[in-house]
Amino acid sequence: MQIAVRQLSKRFGSFQAVDGVSFEIGEGKLVGLLGPSGGGKTTILRMLAGLEEPDSGELFFGDRKVNRLSPQEREIGFVFQHYALFQHMTVYENIAFGLQTKMKQLPDAIRRNGKAYIDQRVNELLALIGLSDLAARFPHQLSGGQKQRVAFARALAPEPKLLLLDEPFAAMDAKVRRELRGWLREMIDRLGITTIFVTHDQEEAVEVADEMLILQQGRLEQQGSPVDMYTKPRTPFVAGFIGESIRVEGLSRWKGFEETPPDAEAFVRPEWIEIGTAKEVPLKSAARLGVVENCLFRGSQWLIEAKVDDTKLFAYRPVELGPLQPNTAVFVLLHRAYAFRGQESFPLENT
Ligand code: ATP
Repeated sequence: MQIAVRQLSKRFGSFQAVDGVSFEIGEGKLVGLLGPSGGGKTTILRMLAGLEEPDSGELFFGDRKVNRLSPQEREIGFVFQHYALFQHMTVYENIAFGLQTKMKQLPDAIRRNGKAYIDQRVNELLALIGLSDLAARFPHQLSGGQKQRVAFARALAPEPKLLLLDEPFAAMDAKVRRELRGWLREMIDRLGITTIFVTHDQEEAVEVADEMLILQQGRLEQQGSPVDMYTKPRTPFVAGFIGESIRVEGLSRWKGFEETPPDAEAFVRPEWIEIGTAKEVPLKSAARLGVVENCLFRGSQWLIEAKVDDTKLFAYRPVELGPLQPNTAVFVLLHRAYAFRGQESFPLENT
């Protein structure tokens, strides 16, 4: 189902939690709602779910305006950070519980045969989450990752048109999170269900999302694919939030970037910077002189921190080139950068 949100706003007292947010989401997309704490992510999710009433704005599910519909009428599935399974019910019963509202909507013929219908659907879902063998267990007999899969199955049971996930993996350790991310991506691809998930974790969003919505202080900073966000950030906030960015004062002083407006705010990414000795940097004529401040071992690479005049930069260096000692004089070359001035953004390249 396609989702459209128009000029959505919500205040709590005098605090503007969501401020004129508009976006559209295509059918079957997996979309990450991302941003710093307090940015309004959960509030938007709750308004989509019908758990919170907007002050203004419109919500469309497909062609249908849903502002006045109850959460049940909206046909959504919801998974929270804490699995919220019923402790006294088995895995099977927890999933079957998700079907109760659905049963009421089914034609009489199927309802009369309710037990068989439920059995078939629960078994399908158990297979989908890969937990068919654990149907008779209770939640306290499951790992965190398994519990969260059951919560997914319960949310999916009534075949919702939209799946809303609020930090679904936040309570898991790093390894389980990684597994569940991959699993979620696969499952959404298979089911083709439009899904919106809230996360703090940019790495998580970049890895699995088709699109990301970046929110800050109740406003939408940018919507786009992870690649777009990374290569074409539209605001300094997005540039700093997605991936590693280094702010460069006075970019116009760097060779190749003389055209940069002097009052623009400029950023580079570490992989756009080359730092090396005279032998290693071929285009010395375009480079500036700097000095190494620190060299840290990062497994496959060295992280080199260097200073050029007052600007601190860092870049990665292949491990086989060996470390650079602090105070070594180096050549520093910028290959790309991007700059922002007011509402304008400029991707820049050193050609
Ligand atoms: P987090 O990542 O910390 O969960 P978030 O981006 O999801 O943050 P929200 O939970 O949407 O942010 O909250 C946005 C702002 O609105 C916060 O400053 C929060 O304190 C405030 N807020 C949320 N719900 C209420 C409420 N019921 N009453 C008053 N203020 C609220």
